[in-house]
Amino acid sequence: MENNIEIKNIREKTPTLYIVIPCYNEEEVLPITSKQFLAKIRQLVTEEKITDDSRILFVNDGSKDSTWDIIRKLSAEDPHYIGICQSRNRGHQNAVLAGLMEAKDQCDITISIDCDGQDDINAMDRMVDAYLDGCEVVYGVRSKRDTDTVFKRFTAEGFYKLLNWMGAEVVYNHADYRLISSRVLQEFANYKEVNIFLRGMVPLVGFKSTSVYYERAERIAGESHYPLKKMLALAFDGITSLSVKPIRLITSFGLLVASLSFIGILWAVIGALVGETAPGWASVTCIVCFIGGIQMLFLGVIGEYIGKIYLETKHRPRYIISERTYKDTDAKQDMG
Ligand code: UDP
Ligand code: MG
Repeated sequence: MENNIEIKNIREKTPTLYIVIPCYNEEEVLPITSKQFLAKIRQLVTEEKITDDSRILFVNDGSKDSTWDIIRKLSAEDPHYIGICQSRNRGHQNAVLAGLMEAKDQCDITISIDCDGQDDINAMDRMVDAYLDGCEVVYGVRSKRDTDTVFKRFTAEGFYKLLNWMGAEVVYNHADYRLISSRVLQEFANYKEVNIFLRGMVPLVGFKSTSVYYERAERIAGESHYPLKKMLALAFDGITSLSVKPIRLITSFGLLVASLSFIGILWAVIGALVGETAPGWASVTCIVCFIGGIQMLFLGVIGEYIGKIYLETKHRPRYIISERTYKDTDAKQDMG
C-alpha cells in the first residue's frame, strides 16, 4: 500500500472474482495454464477471499486452431470454466474489453491476465488483498524484464517514457495484468471509443488504485503474437488515442522551420541587393526536399488523427460475441 494508514478488510462481503483471459491460437498453452487458473480459484475460495461463484472466463479471439474446442471441453468439465467466442479476431485489447464487459454485471472483481503463463498468477493473492483493503484498481507491474529481449526492453522503456511525456498517465512496466472492480467497470463502460488502449484508459477512470510487483516469466509454449510490426502499431495507437501532443509539436516545429526559412529568404534578398550572386541550385534543392519531406511526414501524422476521427464517427461495435459456453447467446445483448 502506498500510504501509511492501513485499513484492513473494509469490504463487507466476500467478492466474486472473474479471471478474464484473452486467447488467440493458444492450443499449446491452454491445457496447462487452465489448470493453474483453476487451482488459484480453488485456493482463494478455500482462504475465503472469494466466493465459489468465481469463474475463469476465456475469451476466444477468433482463433484458427482448436482453442475454442478446448475452452468448450474445459467448461463441460468444471463449472468454474466459462468461455465466450468472438465472431472473428479483433486483437488483444478488444478481446480483454469483451471479457470485462461480459463479466462486469456478474461479479465484484475482474482480473485480466494473458493465458501464456508469463504473468505470475500468484500475484493475484496480493491483488485481491489490495481490493479487500479498499482499492478499486490494482495494477500488476513487472519488477524486472529479464526474460524479454534487450530490444523489447529498450523499446518498451522508451514507449512508457514517451507516453508519460505526452501527458498520458500510464503505469510504468504495467501491461494488461490488473484487477478492476465491477464498480470501476460500470464507469468504464461509458468510455465508448473504438480505438482502445486499456492501460492508458483505465487510469483515466480514477478511484483508489495501487500496484503489486511480480516477475515476468517466459511464455510456456507457443509464440508471441506481438511481432515488431504489431508492437509499433500498438505504441502508435496508444500515443494517438491518448494525446494530441504530436500535433502540437508539429505546429511548434512548423513555426521554427518557417522562422528559419524567413531568415534564409532575408539573407538571400539582401545578398542579391548588394550584388552577390545566389548560391547554386543544390542548396535550394536540398531545402525544398527537406521542407517537402517534413510536410509529408507531418501531414501523415495529422492524417492519422483524422483517420481515427473517421473510425470513431462510425460507432462500430468493438467486439461481437458469437457464442457462449454457459448461457443462451440470445438472452443478452452481445455487442459492445
Ligand atoms: N491475444 C489475443 N488476440 C490477438 C493476439 C493475442 O487475444 O490478436 C492474446 C494471447 O492469446 C495472449 C495475450 O493476448 O493471451 C498476449 O499475447 P502474446 O502473449 O502473444 O503477447 P506478448 O506477451 O508477447 O506481448
Ligand atoms: Mg505473452
